[in-house]
Amino acid sequence: MAHTRESILAALTEQDVKFLRLQFTDVLGTIKNIELPTSQFEKALDGEIMFDGSSIEGFTRIEESDMLLKPDYNTFLIFPQFSQEESARGRVARLICDVSLPDGSPFQGDPRQILRRQIERAASMGFEMFAGPEPEFFLFERTEKGEPTTITNDEAGYFDLAPIDRGERIRREITNALVNMGFEIEAAHHEVAPGQHEIDFKYAPALETADAIATFKFVVKRVALEYGLHASFMPKPVAGINGSGMHCHLSLFKDGKNAFYDENGDNQLSDTALAFIAGLLEHADGMVAITNPLVNSYKRLVPGYEAPINIAWSASNRSAMIRIPARRGVGTRAELRMPDPACNPYLALAVMLAAGLDGIEKGLTPPPAIQRNIYHMTVREKRRHRIRELPGDLNEAVTALENDSLMRNVLGEHAFSHFVEAKRQEWKEYSAVVHKWEHERYLANI
Ligand code: GLU
Ligand code: MG
Ligand code: MG
Repeated sequence: MAHTRESILAALTEQDVKFLRLQFTDVLGTIKNIELPTSQFEKALDGEIMFDGSSIEGFTRIEESDMLLKPDYNTFLIFPQFSQEESARGRVARLICDVSLPDGSPFQGDPRQILRRQIERAASMGFEMFAGPEPEFFLFERTEKGEPTTITNDEAGYFDLAPIDRGERIRREITNALVNMGFEIEAAHHEVAPGQHEIDFKYAPALETADAIATFKFVVKRVALEYGLHASFMPKPVAGINGSGMHCHLSLFKDGKNAFYDENGDNQLSDTALAFIAGLLEHADGMVAITNPLVNSYKRLVPGYEAPINIAWSASNRSAMIRIPARRGVGTRAELRMPDPACNPYLALAVMLAAGLDGIEKGLTPPPAIQRNIYHMTVREKRRHRIRELPGDLNEAVTALENDSLMRNVLGEHAFSHFVEAKRQEWKEYSAVVHKWEHERYLANI
């Protein structure tokens, strides 16, 4: 529904909303909120709320510490009441904002505007990208003190129906809350690992999808908390079982038609689709630090757990980084399988789009699709098929990011340098810790 200043003000009064949250994300993807009482509603809608950006990760630059929040009216939403306590406090609504400098010009380091820039670039080529994410997550028990554990209370497996356990019930509550907030949920199911779930929502234009992912994570955590569980989007919370990915189904539309579909093409894929896929493969190393941003992300990208490690594409096989689902016509799309739900959705969709468009601009063609299970190939076979592996850890991934000038341009100097610095620091801290594995392996023997 298209909102205006007036329709939002009317809804706020009618629904007796007591607080309005202005929402944005920092460079690392954490949602930030500024909550305002009724007296500030008009000012908020007029984009006049100022905040101090110097305390926000990735926004720091002394001379620009004051920033303005410009709400995107289309993102207006009144939250459901998650608890009794909240009902007593009064209803809460939110608007997602673009961040600008005091003179009204866009702040270059704002992830939402980094994505907007790529959407504009696509538009100038006649394209609009649609994205459908498949975020996976775990529901874990909490201790009596409320601290999260890695204990799950269900024994169900992939798509299991019975018995219905607590995790299943809570997933239904989460789904209901999302539907009430206007999400179009395509599927919600148990995943492979105990306690692991997936909720897929309908594909939408990239910006809408990035907003939806940010909101989704917040709602999942909030509802789980209400039921005494902890929802975690950590990519590999438990060793030895599947981790949580966030596959992204991507397609380009031109003049209202799916530009990836060509009735007469090889595999019924258009040249545009092939060039887009080639671009994703070409920039896979460079973008993985953005799509898989944690030290922990790389513990998911190991063989044997349905997560990709090889830079290859396949018409069907799930061991490849890009899979082409069987649907054709309007549903023709590429499924990018390495992203995980810890990523900043705005930056992640921006780099995916940029990589694909680069493939189109340069007229790249992808290597032949791989139909075999790549996990079972020998090193030699992989070499023969020219299949490279994704960076093996965060440090390698950050180096690959630094070496990819397209990625640097997409992020812009501000977000780029901050991101690299924060991730190098994360790696350094991790590397200085002596892990349990090292004790087990070395302490008694060396
Ligand atoms: N959990 C798997 C991953 O880490 C994906 C399983 C699936 O194909 O849905 O990507
Ligand atoms: Mg899945
Ligand atoms: Mg999938």
